[in-house]
Amino acid sequence: MSSAIDILVSEVGPRDGLQSVKRAMPTADKKRWISALAAAGLQEIEVGSFVSPKALPQMADTAEIVQHAISIPGLRVAALVPNLKYARLALEAGAHLITIPVSVSEPHSISNIRMTHPQIIAEVKAIVALRNEAYPQVKIDTGLSTAFGCTIQGIVPEADTVRMAVTMAEAGVDAVNLSDTVGYANPAQVKRLFTKVRAEIGDKTGGAHLHNTRGQGLANVVAALDVGVTTFDSSQGGIGGCPYAPGASGNIVTEDLVFLLESMGLNTGIDIEALIDARKILLEALPGEAIYGLVPDAGLPKGFVPARQLALT
Ligand code: ZN
Repeated sequence: MSSAIDILVSEVGPRDGLQSVKRAMPTADKKRWISALAAAGLQEIEVGSFVSPKALPQMADTAEIVQHAISIPGLRVAALVPNLKYARLALEAGAHLITIPVSVSEPHSISNIRMTHPQIIAEVKAIVALRNEAYPQVKIDTGLSTAFGCTIQGIVPEADTVRMAVTMAEAGVDAVNLSDTVGYANPAQVKRLFTKVRAEIGDKTGGAHLHNTRGQGLANVVAALDVGVTTFDSSQGGIGGCPYAPGASGNIVTEDLVFLLESMGLNTGIDIEALIDARKILLEALPGEAIYGLVPDAGLPKGFVPARQLALT
């Protein structure tokens, strides 16, 4: 994280968002959108996933998108990979950060990436070994999916999440993020689980990937802030809305998250007006798709002062 900011907002819309909408965003629009987000001050963007183009045709152009994104000065470019084969492609393309999703719920792991826990743990170790050998400058994060509950398994015991975080830290990843993949988390649980994970793996404890499926997204952000979390994933326009909850976004909305943080006096380095302006690209490139965000709809409060200007007064 840059020392100039208090909180890193990691934009996941081009990956998490676009892979859950039916329509594939044209490559030129993806590039335009990523450039606009970076120009608004986003310092880290997950620009796509390296996965089977048969399974996710929306992500078929990810290598080209990475090429574009790494040409933007100062931007940290992340890509998601499910296994060693695709990690190799992400590393060759020049991603600065690779994210590996690991489900704490084994039934979710099997249904999502067709791997049992021993299989995915072996895969993570192989990816770390490849990185160590040939790409030492690249960072590897694991995102612990279903860390707070699972639509298949139901309750995910907190001890299971803590154990998987320890396993990942021992496997050599740089950071372990906790993901509320299905929007089950509540603020008390968020505080408890981040505290427990940090007690075991210390500064390998990563960021929070929270969803707003049940309206708890920003409450969960505040809870995570209270226990020292400094990185949050979010998606512009909350794209990738949850099919089970009409009118509710999936990922927390970047615009609303940035407003929350900035109005609390936490500098994100993001120009919220430029960020809101970048929505136009989404509206043009994804006609008919639901685009969420309360702050963009209501407008900034009269007299709103971003955190970096507050610090100067
Ligand atoms: Zn998500």
